[in-house]
Amino acid sequence: MQLIYEKCRGRRAVTFDALDVPEVKLPEALLREKPAELPEVSELDVVRHFTHLSKRNVGVDSHFYPLGSCTMKYNPKMAEAVAAYPGFAWLHPHLSTVPEYQAKCQGALALVYELERLLAEIAGMKASCIQPIAGAHGELTGVLLIAAYHRDRGNTHKDTIIVPDSAHGTNPASAAIAGYKVLQVPSNAQGLVDVEKFKEALNDRVAGVMLTCPNTHGLFESNIREIAELAHSVDALLYYDGANLNAIIGQCRPGDLGFDVMHYNLHKTFGTPHGMGGPGSGPVGVGERLLPYLPGPRVVKHEDRYALEMPEKSIGRIAAFFGNFLIAVRAFAYILHLGDEGLRDVSRMAVLNANYILARLKGAYKPAYPGTCMHECVFTASPQAAQGVHALDIAKALIDCGFHPPTIYFPLTVKECLMIEPTETENKETLDAFCDAMLEIAKLVETNPDSLHAAPVTTPVGRLDEVKAAKELNCAKLQ
Ligand SMILES: *Cc1c(COP(=O)(O)O)cnc(C)c1O
Repeated sequence: MQLIYEKCRGRRAVTFDALDVPEVKLPEALLREKPAELPEVSELDVVRHFTHLSKRNVGVDSHFYPLGSCTMKYNPKMAEAVAAYPGFAWLHPHLSTVPEYQAKCQGALALVYELERLLAEIAGMKASCIQPIAGAHGELTGVLLIAAYHRDRGNTHKDTIIVPDSAHGTNPASAAIAGYKVLQVPSNAQGLVDVEKFKEALNDRVAGVMLTCPNTHGLFESNIREIAELAHSVDALLYYDGANLNAIIGQCRPGDLGFDVMHYNLHKTFGTPHGMGGPGSGPVGVGERLLPYLPGPRVVKHEDRYALEMPEKSIGRIAAFFGNFLIAVRAFAYILHLGDEGLRDVSRMAVLNANYILARLKGAYKPAYPGTCMHECVFTASPQAAQGVHALDIAKALIDCGFHPPTIYFPLTVKECLMIEPTETENKETLDAFCDAMLEIAKLVETNPDSLHAAPVTTPVGRLDEVKAAKELNCAKLQ
């Protein structure tokens, strides 16, 4: 190792500008005794190293990425270009908070104001707030708003939030972190909230009901109106988990269905990067009842300028400044670029693509629930598991076919679950290639099940012991 560093000594990828401040000598005691063993490399070495590593990665820009409940969808490069405008990218957020400097960031404040207005309009809400920096953070904010509402009304006896078993796993976690007891309601045979069980669970102590819609079975909760009426009859507020709004955008609006509060995932519905691709954003939307409690400060529009105001009953800040502002810029560009009809096409195509996969695969894989689906389709690999090939084996085999696996073993309500979300941006050729691979794997289950236990065999790292890999991280082995 030592030898390599010696050999590379003096190679450079950057040249710093000449010092334009006085040089300061560090005290002797702080100096290293010998030079740090850092690789010294040329620009070409650096570029090759990281390009090589990036090719081992699977991402939306390189592969079909059908993770269900995660919406790994394409990030239009147009939105990246807009977010890189120096007027947005180089703006110091503190400017917005100092009244005499607010004149310098009127454009950014206008963007926040307009985006919050558009998001509210899209979901039929009275207002929205872009501060929360993830979907789960939006949920927590929403539940804190529900708590503020009940506190204000003296509803001190309300200590419970109802969450169906088909909700996203973050829902019960958010309710619990906000201090509520969580009561789970089971699904019926159709994969929807069991309304009879819901009625049994509902009582005066219920502060709120959190519904994921479409739920994690990929199904629209068709009894929403009845559930909303029941919830409101005991002064419980209705929370809409709108992470997957791409399934219904432009078709129906949570506000019109009776929801009081919701969150959006800009990184699932509005084309912004997801996961390790970039920071998230989970704005909240509210109806009339929760309007006074929204996080602040809020951007308000005066006749000739935008300014900041903290609403009197606000729950306060839940993130610095406006959350992930440059993500908001991307989402704003995305919404304006697509416009009314374009946004409606998003949901049409997302649902069509998922149903295309459902139709092509349902002869070989068992759908978890009857009927059509929304933006994602859910199968159970139980029949394959009976032959010794599990959902995990199918997922790993897909990697060898050049596809990122779908979500597996989630939702927990479906045994040997395979949850596939194609998103609206994939073309028919890609969907067909994926379905062909899935059908090929289904055939192998019949003819050569053992071959699937070794997969993946084409990747730099083969099948890992996932528990050990998570608990005993050994980076050296991956190099
Ligand atoms: C992804 C998702 C969330 C959580 O969003 P994060 O940004 O990952 O925190 C919540 N609910 C549903 C239905 C989701 O799909």
